[in-house]
Amino acid sequence: MPTSTETTILRGGEWLIQPSEADSVFTPERLTEEHRLIARTAQDFVDHEVLPKLDQLETKDWALARELVKLGAGLGLLGVDVPEAYGGLGLDKVTSLVVSERLARAASFGATFGAHANLTIVPLVLFGSEAQKQKYLPRLLSGEIIGAYGLSETGSGSDALGARTKAARQADGSFLLNGEKMWITNGGFADLFVIFCKVDGDQFTALLVERGWGVKSGKEEHKMGLHGSSTTALIFQDVKVPAENVLSEVGKGHKVAFNVLNFARFKLGAMCGGGAIGAIAESAKYAATRRQFGQPIGSFGAIKHKIGEMVVRTYAIESLLYRTAGLVDARIAATPHDANDGSAALAAFEEYAVEASIAKVAGSEALDFVLDENVQIHGGNGYVHDYPAERHVRDARVNRIFEGTNEINRLLIPGMLIRRALKGDLPLIPAAKALQDELLGPPSMPSDGDAGGALGDELRAIASFKKTSLMVLGLAMQTFGTKLTDEQEVLMHMADIAIDVFSAESAVLRAGRIHREGAAGRATRRRRPRVRERRGDAD
Ligand SMILES: Cc1cc2nc3c(=O)[nH]c(=O)nc-3n(C[C@H](O)[C@H](O)[C@H](O)COP(=O)(O)OP(=O)(O)OC[C@H]3O[C@@H](n4cnc5c(N)ncnc54)[C@H](O)[C@@H]3O)c2cc1C
Repeated sequence: MPTSTETTILRGGEWLIQPSEADSVFTPERLTEEHRLIARTAQDFVDHEVLPKLDQLETKDWALARELVKLGAGLGLLGVDVPEAYGGLGLDKVTSLVVSERLARAASFGATFGAHANLTIVPLVLFGSEAQKQKYLPRLLSGEIIGAYGLSETGSGSDALGARTKAARQADGSFLLNGEKMWITNGGFADLFVIFCKVDGDQFTALLVERGWGVKSGKEEHKMGLHGSSTTALIFQDVKVPAENVLSEVGKGHKVAFNVLNFARFKLGAMCGGGAIGAIAESAKYAATRRQFGQPIGSFGAIKHKIGEMVVRTYAIESLLYRTAGLVDARIAATPHDANDGSAALAAFEEYAVEASIAKVAGSEALDFVLDENVQIHGGNGYVHDYPAERHVRDARVNRIFEGTNEINRLLIPGMLIRRALKGDLPLIPAAKALQDELLGPPSMPSDGDAGGALGDELRAIASFKKTSLMVLGLAMQTFGTKLTDEQEVLMHMADIAIDVFSAESAVLRAGRIHREGAAGRATRRRRPRVRERRGDAD
């Protein structure tokens, strides 16, 4: 396991109050040969099978979408998160991240793939009964059937638990499903749906519903982007669902929905990171070849600065994604569990739900920045169909809307941290009190020790960011008490501070490690010639 060398497994949110050692942080530089192999497989699949067919997919050719899912399935890309006992590969979450990153360059297909793999296969792995797994997983994994996830409705998007779709329990234990879902990815052609509804009035429940039982699709939505992915309403009129198709338990649908979203948000962050890397490559290539005033535009400082800023922001996103994946994998590895049982992964994603929300918000916003600059670097060519830059912008905009809008995720970040603090799971309150005492006490000189070597200044700045974050958190809790949930402006700022702390620290720890290992490598290389010289002398 790549994470076996993790020295400390921080709990979710603990980085706010604990310094982290660079050695404990997983980074892309630590990918194993196995990770790199699957990354190449996913990349080749996207480059050679998907990207050349994007225009065809955008004509709503869902037969092609199915064919591509099957091709991906044949390469094992659907089974990364699925235990081997059910036909998957049972690989770690770093692999999941690597695959999502690579799929990002074909955003429309990425959405199709995500709704199938992350929002249908993953809920089955995490919550399905043995019979449900045996019945559906093999066909989902082979791409024979396609999945979709139906949570949103016309009247309930962010307020997902306000769903009005109803399931009435029948005498034989089955359910009669009535209602309508909205905006469902793969809605036009999926065969199996994870549908959230209220059973007997108010018990929020997830059901596995087959299209063949009478599910109807609405018309395709006319969207701003993602034209190559299907988005429709789903209509249920007296659809009979057998008793054994409850996913998890009646009344436990919120557990399914929220836990699946923790995982899906992390993967969406990964797709955003991957999309940004692809766009930087496009910008760099264009800047090197487009000439104005007799020279490549890439030689102008303004353009260099843009590309530098795109790289810096993407580096931070990549760093926090790999750090989170490392933490999740380490947590799973440290939890005694049966390899076929999804409970350890479930607990790990619950533990790092704050980090998953950060990945989603920071990833989608960094991506939009990068894609906008990509258009700018392309000039007029960025605004027309002939180049992919404009399509990227349209495709990416929805990342800030689905899987919980960025506002909802921003509210969740401090909300979850405070809830953990109040439960005693995260010692934020004592840390905030200690900070208050420190601030009221005599001024302390900043340590001039060599914290982090070359990046000591940056690490000291991050330590100060953490103090700022704790101060704001403590003061907000003190000032507003239980009414803090109503103070959204404050919560949004608290989220932004937490996002910046996690991003900055992840990037600096990674850079520090690379610097140190690079220095060690350089030292080794400097020694080598002397060895060769001596050998030469001996010869
Ligand atoms: C292309 C696409 C694909 C999708 N795929 C799926 C899918 O496969 N399955 C599925 O179930 N859904 C899917 N969705 C739906 C998506 O998850 C919802 O659009 C999203 O959750 C937002 O809900 P809404 O559109 O009702 O917006 P609303 O909830 O009405 O939000 C409108 C605005 O108000 C803000 N807001 C709402 N509540 C609060 C609050 N309490 N505090 C502060 N601000 C608030 C929001 O942040 C947003 O800015 C998809 C949507 C799109 C566009």
